[in-house]
Amino acid sequence: MGEAKARRRDALAALGRDTLDVLVVGGGINGAGIARDLAGRGASVVLCEKDDLASHTSSSSTKLVHGGLRYLEYYEFSLVKKALAEREVLLKSAPHIIRPLRFVMPHDRSLRPAWLIRAGLLLYDRLGKRQLLAGSASVDLHKHPAGKPLRAGFAKGFLYSDAWVDDARLVVLNALDASERGATVLTRTRCVSARRAGAVWEVTLQSLAHAGTRSAKARALVNATGPWVVDLARDALAMTPKGNVRMAKGSHIVVRKLFDHDCAYILQNPDRRIVFAIPYEGDFTLIGTTDVEYDGDPAAAAISLDETRYLCETANRYFERVIAPGDVVWSFSGVRPLLEDESKDLSAVTRDYLLECDAAAGRAPLLSVFGGKITTYRRLAEEALDLLAAGLGGVGAAWTSGVPLPGGDIADADFERFLAALQRQRPWLPANLARRYARAYGTRVERMLAGARGIEDLGAAYGGGLYEAEVDYLVRVEWAATAEDILWRRSKLGLHVGPETAERLAARLPAADAMTTREMRHAADA
Ligand SMILES: Cc1cc2nc3c(=O)[nH]c(=O)nc-3n(C[C@H](O)[C@H](O)[C@H](O)COP(=O)(O)OP(=O)(O)OC[C@H]3O[C@@H](n4cnc5c(N)ncnc54)[C@H](O)[C@@H]3O)c2cc1C
Repeated sequence: MGEAKARRRDALAALGRDTLDVLVVGGGINGAGIARDLAGRGASVVLCEKDDLASHTSSSSTKLVHGGLRYLEYYEFSLVKKALAEREVLLKSAPHIIRPLRFVMPHDRSLRPAWLIRAGLLLYDRLGKRQLLAGSASVDLHKHPAGKPLRAGFAKGFLYSDAWVDDARLVVLNALDASERGATVLTRTRCVSARRAGAVWEVTLQSLAHAGTRSAKARALVNATGPWVVDLARDALAMTPKGNVRMAKGSHIVVRKLFDHDCAYILQNPDRRIVFAIPYEGDFTLIGTTDVEYDGDPAAAAISLDETRYLCETANRYFERVIAPGDVVWSFSGVRPLLEDESKDLSAVTRDYLLECDAAAGRAPLLSVFGGKITTYRRLAEEALDLLAAGLGGVGAAWTSGVPLPGGDIADADFERFLAALQRQRPWLPANLARRYARAYGTRVERMLAGARGIEDLGAAYGGGLYEAEVDYLVRVEWAATAEDILWRRSKLGLHVGPETAERLAARLPAADAMTTREMRHAADA
């Protein structure tokens, strides 16, 4: 029996036997972050996710660790300050999957005056502490490389810093750290019902891999199901939560690269929204996002032709190379679970979160997460634990701000030095593969390579630089079960390989399913 299967079998046996401290429902960034924090404070935790880790909103973001420059226009100073403070904390904890990113805002005087942008950037610089990130500046686009791909007429621009994150891997690394600190992570396991029996939750879980259901008991329950937060409360817990979410679909398109430097663009639109154009996966540009009211199944969210056109038109206002829907090589959509407020305009709805804790004396606590951002997940987890502490009879002290995520213990957070050392030690690794491995796995690359001394030791080749050693690691250690998990979430190799790689992987993976072919077909059709 494989390591992953044995781990799951032991965890399931313990589930029926013991009363856990906390059952966390939802393996997006918020559930994984809360599970990690709890496990590190010694609590016994199970994290259950109905699909793969980061299957939904947490792999569909713009992938920015940012304060949110545009939120300043909505006077969201405390959210911006909290998020800005997290940038460098997260950069230091995972310098392999999170990196500084410089943004260029080409100036369009008909949209916002230069003085307003300068004042906003000054505030942005001042609100957040910076050690690693450079401050804002004005830029002459006739001289700066970022001016070259732009249409004539953009003479002036502004530069500022935020950070970029591999969102799906951030979730996996939080789950992995939780698991290494004693938590049990059950993917493809749905929470179908939970009922309070005094001081304990009696929970029913249903796994895709096994017929029938399993029972678990937990002293506290966390509803971190993102856009499903109200559904879980209503359908599985038979409750009506006080908070509510407003669903906003956001879509991105990926096109062959529109520029050749490593800055991103923040593009202003006449509707006052902003759209990012970000260097992506070496050969591509990621453009997004949209903001569309949504009331369908969050799992079925997909880009519409109107959204695709909107994003192409925005890019075409700025870049010399004109793009059309036919140039889109991939797209993805996610549903923002926004906190319901009075705003009519979706873009104005707060991106902050609300934690609702129902923990009357003698009753097992229920903590529900509404809204939030990737950027603030660690702070959200700390606040969640503060709220749960009393119901659990106390938890340890906050610890996550200075502790690296798996693979993130890179000296001085200096990624390029780390990569150079890896290349010196393994000169047989092709440069692009060494860089990809170092970015994805950080110092865990040693475990993934498992003593390989030449490319032939990495085993069967699936195409696009994917070898058996990596597939084996992802299945054994990172809960990957299907080709889609590997090609579209643990990596973005799906962008670089053809359908034959997915087919070969599907044949290798026992749990390979129809999703794989669906996702690959989508990429090929787009
Ligand atoms: C288009 C877009 C762009 C964004 N860009 C950014 C950005 O650049 N920076 C940033 O900081 N934030 C960004 N965000 C916000 C961020 O992505 C979300 O706030 C965050 O991912 C929400 O995470 P979550 O864990 O709450 O939800 P999710 O990631 O959706 O996770 C919830 C999980 O719960 C699972 N689940 C549901 N029901 C059950 C059940 N019954 N049993 C078990 N599991 C269940 C689901 O399968 C799902 O995986 C963006 C969001 C969108 C949509």
